[in-house]
Amino acid sequence: LVFDFCLEYDFRIQDVVRWIRSNGFKRVLIQLPEGLMRCFETIVSSINEAVDVDVVVSANPSYGPCLVDEISVQQMGLDAVIHFGHLQYPYYRPSVPTLFIPAEWAAMDLSWLEKELSRVTADRNAVVVTVSQHLSSVKTVCKRLGIEFGGIMLGCYLPKEVTSRKRLVVVAGGDFHCISAYLHTVGKDVDIVCIDPYAKIVRCGEEIGGKVLRVRMWKVSECLGARKWLVVNGFLGQNRQRIVDEIVRKLLSKNIVARKVSALRIDEEYLRNLGAETFDCIVIVACPRIAIDDLQNFEKPVLTPGEAMMVLSGSTERYVYPW
Ligand code: SF4
Repeated sequence: LVFDFCLEYDFRIQDVVRWIRSNGFKRVLIQLPEGLMRCFETIVSSINEAVDVDVVVSANPSYGPCLVDEISVQQMGLDAVIHFGHLQYPYYRPSVPTLFIPAEWAAMDLSWLEKELSRVTADRNAVVVTVSQHLSSVKTVCKRLGIEFGGIMLGCYLPKEVTSRKRLVVVAGGDFHCISAYLHTVGKDVDIVCIDPYAKIVRCGEEIGGKVLRVRMWKVSECLGARKWLVVNGFLGQNRQRIVDEIVRKLLSKNIVARKVSALRIDEEYLRNLGAETFDCIVIVACPRIAIDDLQNFEKPVLTPGEAMMVLSGSTERYVYPW
């Protein structure tokens, strides 16, 4: 079963082997997002069948391309990292040799996608974005249909030009990219349509994102007047020291207590261990998904950096996402 599942993804083993050989690497790290972790055995054995290289698997978080596990590479004296599941993050360049392999989903029903894309882009000035898993499929279908392809989006990144169109179509599994596209475009005259190729459903971004926006505005209002804040920074590409400094500076200028935390991984349990009940408001600077998705039901309000800035600048009418 695991083997069948892994066959649905293109791990581009030949490219990986070529890269290892041409650079003469002897010891490499591989990184996979949680959903593809179970394929590591298939990947390692395929690499080792082709090239004699020592492969170590990282079990550290790999939520996005912002988390290339440089720490393991450096600490274990490895030569390089092969990061599966994402393409390079626009806001961060790893300091060790890194090969990004998007791990595209090869089981996409292209005729279904073509039918839906043609339907939702028929009457509007539309542009299509997707995630790395569907890059080739979406590009191919857009080209065939003569629809504009806007590139890759991430939970915290949307190519700028795409928000100037009347309709933005997001092809991605699950809800988060759809929510993220919606939050990115609040206040702009763009309507979001979300196509989930795994579940084969097409939804309106407003339907999913509208509810989330109301919750986010409620969290923002809960932090108005908060006197004690916890500000959580991340590691690697999630280390946003400049934003942390800006938030803390604004808090201190208002005589508000600000405590700073650095965390590679943060969840409810960690926050409780940090005594979260003694804080009025928590900001997760590392990644907006943690506040919106993982900690949305936490007993204390947890904000993204953009939401924290809304509270601190006193302008809560215009939603700011992600920072
Ligand atoms: S949404 Fe979070 S995990 Fe994804 S790229 Fe941005 S910071 Fe990284």
